[in-house]
Amino acid sequence: EIINYVDFINYILDRFDKIIEKNYSNFKIKRQIPRQEIWLEIDTDKLSQVIDNIINNAFKYSPNGGTITVTVWCNNNKAFTSIADQGIGIPKPALSKVFDRFYRVDNSSRNSQIGGTGLGLSIAHDIMKLHKGDIQVTSDGKNGSTFTLSFPYSDEINQENNDWEDFAE
Ligand code: ATP
Ligand code: MG
Repeated sequence: EIINYVDFINYILDRFDKIIEKNYSNFKIKRQIPRQEIWLEIDTDKLSQVIDNIINNAFKYSPNGGTITVTVWCNNNKAFTSIADQGIGIPKPALSKVFDRFYRVDNSSRNSQIGGTGLGLSIAHDIMKLHKGDIQVTSDGKNGSTFTLSFPYSDEINQENNDWEDFAE
């Protein structure tokens, strides 16, 4: 369906703010999200799954908590969302593998106590491809990780919706 992505992401983050209040008091979410509408054609159930996995990973792999910064912007007919944590990071050689099925970074000090199947990010990758978008990750290997989603952004959809707003006047 075609939705206002800004409302969608704020709604998801409101839900995580409540989860943080209850269970993860050493975290906070910082929003860098524009006020204006960004209309995108997405499967909201599937995309919620993507964002849920990335934010749950941020919780899982940040033993000291920290700030999870969510930034949304548009550029060159793409809409971007980055989710940055201050956790243990991902070593350079593992960066290209985290989207592989069942892959988990092998480090006894991290995954032994932290449960997971290694499927979350491969599913996220599949879902982004289904949207003709992409998911990428950067990390210096110790001071946090940043996951960036991109979607095709159509001037036409956004134009049309601006027109509907004019009709409402
Ligand atoms: P699940 O299937 O329950 O999501 P998982 O979290 O282990 O299991 P993925 O979400 O696919 O699997 O992540 C793959 C691996 O990438 C993780 O096991 C972890 O080693 C690494 N990883 C993912 N996100 C982060 C992060 N934010 N910080 C550090 N490492 C991460
Ligand atoms: Mg996961």
